[in-house]
Amino acid sequence: MVQLKSPREIETMAAGGKILAATHAAVRAAVRPGVSTAELDKVAEDFIRSHEGATPSFKGLYGFPASICASVNDEVVHGIPSARRLLREGDIVSVDIGVFYGGLHTDSARTVPVGAVDDTTLRLLQVTEESLEAGIAQVVAGNHVGDIGAAIEARVKAGGFVVVRDLVGHGVGHSMHEEPQVPNHGKPRRGPKLAAGLTIAIEPMVNAGTAETRTLPDKWTVVTLDGKRSAHFEHTVAVTESGPRVLTR
Ligand code: MG
Ligand code: MG
Repeated sequence: MVQLKSPREIETMAAGGKILAATHAAVRAAVRPGVSTAELDKVAEDFIRSHEGATPSFKGLYGFPASICASVNDEVVHGIPSARRLLREGDIVSVDIGVFYGGLHTDSARTVPVGAVDDTTLRLLQVTEESLEAGIAQVVAGNHVGDIGAAIEARVKAGGFVVVRDLVGHGVGHSMHEEPQVPNHGKPRRGPKLAAGLTIAIEPMVNAGTAETRTLPDKWTVVTLDGKRSAHFEHTVAVTESGPRVLTR
């Protein structure tokens, strides 16, 4: 069932989303060659908990052991932070974070370059972020979920990359994952209609090679089938009468 949020609930999510955006900034500032993904996890968890009433949404969710997902290079999503996973110059790390605040979740991800990265990687990050913005622009009451996916996929295709189809965005709020599913592909005017009060996480995952993925034996980490790189950008967005409101900017 789709749960619409009241204006007051959306304000609460905006407050949590502000903490989440600041958490991303703190993690980004800690990204450098030699840092471990476990250290980034600690930065995020400490930062979130330093705000009264805020806790990391992911810790314990479906049994996930950490506060962030940290997915390096060919890892698409759900990478488990590890003290043994040290970032190197030229890597990329996709950091996905959820904040639970005032009884409501927000969800946001971004892929961060480690030092200087190659041109294809830079373009992958740019196209993925632009595709997220193209999707957000479709978050208008009366539009359909398919309008979001169609806009994302068009931008990604034009950039010469492919969207992952095995994983999707989602409603978010009282639970981390609510209806509706928000795929990163689709047909305009298809799928559930967007109504004011709907809050969704839009999250294109974009691969440099094949769209196909597999899950590692740790049962969490999703990687590209061909070992090429993947990027992930995500915002929690509210449908309002006056257009999209990004709650995690
Ligand atoms: Mg996320
Ligand atoms: Mg999400």
